Amino acid sequence: MNIVFCSSEVFPFVKTGGLADVCGALPLALERLGMEVSIFLPRYKDIKPDQHPLEKINNRVSKTRLGKNIQVYLIEQAKYYQREGLYGDASGDYPDNLERFQYFCRQTLEVWKQLKLKVDIVHCHDWQTALIPVYLKEKFGKDSFYAGIKTVLMIHNLAFQGIFPRQAYPLLGLKDELFNPQTFEYYGQINLLKAGIIYSDQVTTVSRRYAKEIQTKQFGCGLDGVLKSRRDEIVGILNGLDTDVWNPEKDPLIAKRYSSDDFIELKQENKRCLQESFKLPSCEDNPVFGFVGRLSHQKGVDLLLEVMGAMAASSLQMIVLGLGEKEHILRLTEMAERNPKKIAVRFAFDEKTAHQIYAGSDLLLMPSCFEPCGLSQMIALRYGTIPVVYKTGGLADTVVPFDPSSLHGNGFLFEEYTPAAFLTMINRAIKVYGDKKKFSRLVRNAFQCDFSWDKSAGIYARLYKNLL
Ligand code: ADP
Repeated sequence: MNIVFCSSEVFPFVKTGGLADVCGALPLALERLGMEVSIFLPRYKDIKPDQHPLEKINNRVSKTRLGKNIQVYLIEQAKYYQREGLYGDASGDYPDNLERFQYFCRQTLEVWKQLKLKVDIVHCHDWQTALIPVYLKEKFGKDSFYAGIKTVLMIHNLAFQGIFPRQAYPLLGLKDELFNPQTFEYYGQINLLKAGIIYSDQVTTVSRRYAKEIQTKQFGCGLDGVLKSRRDEIVGILNGLDTDVWNPEKDPLIAKRYSSDDFIELKQENKRCLQESFKLPSCEDNPVFGFVGRLSHQKGVDLLLEVMGAMAASSLQMIVLGLGEKEHILRLTEMAERNPKKIAVRFAFDEKTAHQIYAGSDLLLMPSCFEPCGLSQMIALRYGTIPVVYKTGGLADTVVPFDPSSLHGNGFLFEEYTPAAFLTMINRAIKVYGDKKKFSRLVRNAFQCDFSWDKSAGIYARLYKNLL
């Protein structure tokens, strides 16, 4: 079976978030199951030939490799992709994103035929590639080369839909009649994700709970009606982790490697190095809370800012790594300046620091107000770092509340989205941290969680087979 992944980001080539992690790791897990997988990705400026050997096939496409034999095709177009960043720069999203990603979708389809690739399933990801199922049916359908190809659209985050002004519609090269409420039209604008949901043979999303949530008004981001109309084709499959990239026993980016057998001292060593790197005083007996993520409303930065003052008054430290909204950066900087011994911040996208925070923190704060799956809490658990999360989406599917009597569970969940409820849970975590025996049992529980891709990749393999 030949599976083609089409995505706007893939680790280790380019990454802005979990989408890249998933599109780098799931193909590897499918390859281990014996499937033929290839990947299509735009050839961005950040993909450096000295890090990833590139073979130029022709003017439209170059090739590199992932895993044993996964061919990674990079669609070339300097005017669209040879710029800073993937989707925008400091002033915001690029105004020609519709053009950039429709080009990617169309070229990808054309290159298949040009290279005579055998494609059984095309697995698309988010709005950037949602045009592929539409093009396959509306533009390429009459060509027998494309007959029988089945389409899967994976929604990583429904909050990003690819919405563009109606005037840009001719750029898509599709019939005018398709601009209607049953296809592209969304309150007078173009909505690429909506059209992709309608045209795909199968829609998947990244956790079971999120699959249900997005069919409700509260989490449906205006597409709950469309999603409900396709409820029989929607399935939630939990994301996994690349357990080679995220492995405290082998991680080359952390100060001291450790396992569930020797974490007690070695994790402390990572904590000391982390504190030093963030210029915080070393304090073994107090917990360090980490945060790694986009500085956005979704990730709960507003809520975090509301409890930070109270947290800084307790015996603990907080370390924040992220990029995002200016307002959040300003307020976090202020907090850190006011509490130099307690709070440290770094505004960057920095893979190494992220690994060091997962390894060196005792707990990870993840108060997302919605979270399709969330990888950070799973990574934290793999590093024996205990997540404190809001009970939503994939966070609710992966974090089990720790019960200090039965000693069952792997983290802390708050159920009411208020600063008070968040703070109560943080205080509960601090209390458990103070009881060394209980906390080390909790860390052991975390190490026992299995978030590898193996199980979910098997579910995808069955889903592909059923589609064919
Ligand atoms: P998202 O909604 O952003 O995709 P996820 O939790 O699914 O959130 O995945 C986020 C991924 O991006 C994780 O691998 C996390 O470690 C990484 N990440 C987020 N922010 C940063 C950052 N500032 N520096 C390094 N890695 C980051």
